[in-house]
Amino acid sequence: MTKIELTAFEQQLLEKVSHAAQRLKVPAYAIGGVVRDKILGRPVKDIDIVCVGDGIALAHETATAFKPKPKVNFFKTYGTAQIKLPSIELEFVGARQESYERGSRNPKVSTGTLEDDQNRRDFTINAMAISLNQEDFGRLIDPFDGLQDIKDKIIRTPLTPDQTFSDDPLRMMRAIRFATQLQFHIETHCFDSIKRQSERINIISKERIADELNKIMMSGKPSIGLDLLFRSGLLAHILPQLTALAGTEYVDNKGHKDNFYHTIQVVDNIARHTDNLWLRWAALLHDIGKAPTKKFEPGHGWTFHGHEVVSGRLVPKIFNNLRLPLNDRMQYVKKLIELHHRPVSLTKENITDSAIRRLLFDAGDDIDDLMTLCEADITSKNREKVVRYLENFELVRVRLKEVEEKDKIRNWQPPVSGEEIMETFGLSPSREVGTIKTAIREAILDGIIPNEHEAARQFMLEFAATLNIKPVA
Ligand code: ATP
Repeated sequence: MTKIELTAFEQQLLEKVSHAAQRLKVPAYAIGGVVRDKILGRPVKDIDIVCVGDGIALAHETATAFKPKPKVNFFKTYGTAQIKLPSIELEFVGARQESYERGSRNPKVSTGTLEDDQNRRDFTINAMAISLNQEDFGRLIDPFDGLQDIKDKIIRTPLTPDQTFSDDPLRMMRAIRFATQLQFHIETHCFDSIKRQSERINIISKERIADELNKIMMSGKPSIGLDLLFRSGLLAHILPQLTALAGTEYVDNKGHKDNFYHTIQVVDNIARHTDNLWLRWAALLHDIGKAPTKKFEPGHGWTFHGHEVVSGRLVPKIFNNLRLPLNDRMQYVKKLIELHHRPVSLTKENITDSAIRRLLFDAGDDIDDLMTLCEADITSKNREKVVRYLENFELVRVRLKEVEEKDKIRNWQPPVSGEEIMETFGLSPSREVGTIKTAIREAILDGIIPNEHEAARQFMLEFAATLNIKPVA
């Protein structure tokens, strides 16, 4: 009999559930992700409990074993209940069977046996259960050889893949997500089935798709999933702007790099340096404007003029389409993408302080993230080149630090405020105020005047005079 090793804490917790189930005389099991993660030695954040009976009643009975008694959240319509403990969540549900009718996304759900419940699971590695019953507490119940598939690092569906994916097409994304997180191989028939049915992903809500995509993006090596999404045909449905970057074109024997494979390499590079999901998204979308701006210029070669701006402009559309947040996070991604070539131009010689100041001003607090993005963007296979580029960026970082220490430009506000401009010239809020304010800011950033109130005020008076705006007496 295969037994799963539990920590003392998990053992105590599951014994409480076990005793509650005995009192109610219902068979109960820990099932799904927790079993998989215990076998893999991954941390467990929640435990799904399935019982052959009323899941909500089992949750209430289990709660009585804790002091103080925790709250039980339950959803009568779904027959599910949840207990949130400080370090772990317990989810309860009655065993069920699902039957899908073609053309309908929502399964018919009815009560079932443990076996029925295991049959409706997505992958063999997610269909294992651990008995919580007195006679065989801790026994692994593994009808589809999930344990062997974990050993072989294989993602496989319990029933036929065509049926499984057609019933719930989100499972196609989940297969790729698990293959990425666990670095497992999707069994060939399974992957072929995803290829055949990729179009059905369109019936799934954008929120659920984005959830899986974000999990792929947060994994150790997101390129595994991004490549699988591309090769399965799913990416063309969920992020066609990225698929459009794939491939190399040749004219007059001149080619350009495959910008899709470049991009996913950049995402892997950045994943080694940050867990910030949005910085990873900036890496994913940084070159998205290369497809619409691509041109072959005879005698010169391939160009992608202005692709940073076009990439940035596409960000709100892509975020909106995937129901990603349209708030400051989207603005952050857009800004980093729009600025991602600026540090490159600062690697040249004889760069003035004013160019450095401008970048500090435009990037603000996100300057370090921008440099991280630029460093991740280096994907040359030539080691010497990589080292040289990284050294150049290191010099830019040093200059940025020096100028910031001297001028304090990050989060900087010009020394003359809009209020002072309005008061001085008797203006109400208007375009003129903005024009004068911008002129002062530009003069300081360009180093024409120092970053001081007196000099800025003098400049303001002189500049306003050129617009025929006079101070009030
Ligand atoms: P993670 O916590 O990393 O997301 P998980 O496997 O615990 O992984 P959940 O989404 O919490 O993921 O799902 C719990 C279990 O429910 C899964 O292990 C699987 O058995 C089952 N499951 C989840 N989604 C589906 C689905 N779309 N189709 C079939 N079974 C599913």
